[in-house]
Amino acid sequence: KRKGGENTFSLFDQEMDARALRYLGWRAQLEQSLKEDRFELYFQPYFYTDTRTLAGAEALLRLRDPQKGLLAPSAFIEVLEESPLITAVEMAMLEKIRAFLLSLERPIKISFNISPKSLTNARFLEAIQAISRDVGRYLVLEVTERLLVEEAERARVFLEEVRKLGVRVAVDDFGTGYSSLAYLERLPVDFLKIDMSFVQRMTQSRRSLAIVDTLVSLAMKLGLKTIAEGVETEEEYKLLALLGCDIVQGYYLAKPMPREALEALLSDTASV
Ligand code: C2E
Ligand code: CA
Ligand code: CA
Ligand code: CA
Repeated sequence: KRKGGENTFSLFDQEMDARALRYLGWRAQLEQSLKEDRFELYFQPYFYTDTRTLAGAEALLRLRDPQKGLLAPSAFIEVLEESPLITAVEMAMLEKIRAFLLSLERPIKISFNISPKSLTNARFLEAIQAISRDVGRYLVLEVTERLLVEEAERARVFLEEVRKLGVRVAVDDFGTGYSSLAYLERLPVDFLKIDMSFVQRMTQSRRSLAIVDTLVSLAMKLGLKTIAEGVETEEEYKLLALLGCDIVQGYYLAKPMPREALEALLSDTASV
């Protein structure tokens, strides 16, 4: 038999406390990680669909944990994005991207993901402005649809500013979550990234295929380029080529890799 409601309550409280503590513990750890420069970037190349030549690479955040090894964002991004620390981390990553681009003889496009907090932070905009003289024309900013809808006005101001610097803009996870297309009428964007959930279902489902087909045509009519993410098989790749998708990204072509591996890839292609 269950005991009185009071007991259940205090147990619940204790659980909440434990969660809050874990959360705070995480925050302190993330702060320490930034101080010790344990955030790293991996790079996933993406390719022109028709020629399979390199079109650029997406910078993806990793955390080198002394105990657990290399952590992907799923292990920490939720806590990090809720903390003001996210902007400092993303600014540090921006600096790494700048240094990387300046070290390359023939720089390539580098896409990077930006959190809602950074997009509405004046300091982040200044950081982009500061590096843009050198590398602005190589940068592609990836923002989610959700942000473009929820923060439409602030997003517009921010995106217009960065585009003056030669930075291009991609809508990430396009086609998920938000049904509104109204922002495409007003916001300056260059690329639509077709969410991998559609890409991975389209060889199984006619409906998913119809959605990908429609997104590609929509982009074409709007004068935007399409990038399909999560391409894992030859079949998916061929289908995307048939549909006229401009750029492909996914494990079938290349996985996210450390900077050195991307550099090796670049020098290979250069010497061909
Ligand atoms: P995203 O921007 O949608 O990035 C694509 C994710 O799909 C990456 O996961 C990538 O490794 C993975 N991926 C690429 N190709 C394939 C494939 O063929 N199959 C499958 N199953 N997955 C593939 P990752 O690196 O774990 O990043 C997860 C998410 O974390 C990103 O999703 C992005 O939303 C977020 N993220 C990454 N870096 C940053 C950052 O610097 N700032 C912020 N705010 N978020 C970031
Ligand atoms: Ca992305
Ligand atoms: Ca995505
Ligand atoms: Ca995502």
